[in-house]
Amino acid sequence: MSGLIHDSDEHRAIRESVAGIANRYGPQYFLQRGRNGEDIDDLWKDLGAAGLLGVHLPEEFGGGGGGMAEAVVVVEELAAHGMPMLIWVISPAICGSILAHHGSPDMKRRWLPGIADGTEKMAFAITEPDAGSNSHNVKTTARKSSTGWVLSGSKYYISGIDQCDAVLVVARDADLSTPDKPRLSLFVVPTDSAGLTYQQIDTSIVSPDKQFTVFFDDVEVTRDALIGQAGNGLRQVFDGLNPERILVGAICGGVGRYAVTKAADYAKERQVWSTPIGAHQGIAHPLAESHIAVELSRLATALSAELFDTGQPAGEAANIAKFAASEAALKALDQAIQTHGGNGLAHEYGLSELWFVTRLMRTAPVSREMVLNFVAQTSLGLPRSY
Ligand SMILES: Cc1cc2nc3c(=O)[nH]c(=O)nc-3n(C[C@H](O)[C@H](O)[C@H](O)COP(=O)(O)OP(=O)(O)OC[C@H]3O[C@@H](n4cnc5c(N)ncnc54)[C@H](O)[C@@H]3O)c2cc1C
Repeated sequence: MSGLIHDSDEHRAIRESVAGIANRYGPQYFLQRGRNGEDIDDLWKDLGAAGLLGVHLPEEFGGGGGGMAEAVVVVEELAAHGMPMLIWVISPAICGSILAHHGSPDMKRRWLPGIADGTEKMAFAITEPDAGSNSHNVKTTARKSSTGWVLSGSKYYISGIDQCDAVLVVARDADLSTPDKPRLSLFVVPTDSAGLTYQQIDTSIVSPDKQFTVFFDDVEVTRDALIGQAGNGLRQVFDGLNPERILVGAICGGVGRYAVTKAADYAKERQVWSTPIGAHQGIAHPLAESHIAVELSRLATALSAELFDTGQPAGEAANIAKFAASEAALKALDQAIQTHGGNGLAHEYGLSELWFVTRLMRTAPVSREMVLNFVAQTSLGLPRSY
């Protein structure tokens, strides 16, 4: 299938490398593992060994020395092979980017090489039951102790913490915050710390990455667990949130490609009247529209990655890409299911089970409404309602 993105030689090589590994496993491996609650450690190990988990991380810490543009190619190509990987966005992308920008040299040496080669993973915890979209209202608190910090509170919808060695926690700094003005600090907390527990949240998402509520019951961490500057957490976290939005754009661009390609292939073969079903405009036009929407969203994602990599303001582009790609992917997937008739709902065709992981992208990491708020306020200068 053709498209609007024209890869450089380097990007083409990355894409081929991802495709080579993804084809060895196939979408059914990913879906079956997700369905059975099993891990994808073999695949993750292979991606790490091929340098495909740290393409955007600094070379001196085991990465490939590229940027978001290269991460987009990897994540999109995995999703285009039926493997939309939440953990890639969380561990290498959000946590890796925050550590690469704000971690101390020791912290980078400790965590980045393992994240890049796939031997270690880090979860990301900002969302709270009583804060949700309002990150300023975070209640998980970090208090200074004689040896470091003590964390207490809870987080929810923390993806993949059961497979992670540490979690990057966004906490309210007890010393620097006032009742009116919270100041946030970021910490790397090993998942085997005393007082850290978690409980699975059952969801409809078919994915090897599960969701958890995480409890911090006076969890002690040493001084060197603090990332960057105390009280500067929200600004630091924003360096991870643009990559998150860009890579959700990439996942959705990949799911969109997967759905449109599968639907077009099916529509060329399936015949119930005198011509293949793809000849009926009722089937062909919605697929053509989906292709257009998916390709435009891929352009927006590529542009936002380029802006981020060249140090230009990327917030507007990243939000637009995330919005456009998630809407396009969902519509494309729905149309692919429709094109397959009854088969669209069979596990064998690998479509319907991707529904909730794709639907999730409308809600997380930032909801559709919060993206629209951002665009209304930042792009259009409209007043806030909250
Ligand atoms: C599968 C999954 C994985 C996730 N993984 C992680 C993770 O790894 N780490 C992590 O920290 N978080 C994670 N999240 C949390 C996710 O980021 C939040 O669900 C999301 O930010 C929305 O927060 P909320 O669920 O509390 O909804 P709420 O904030 O309660 O919002 C509910 C609804 O109200 C709307 N709303 C809220 N405020 C406004 C407003 N001002 N204007 C208009 N509409 C508004 C929202 O858009 C939404 O539709 C995950 C969520 C899911 C579902």
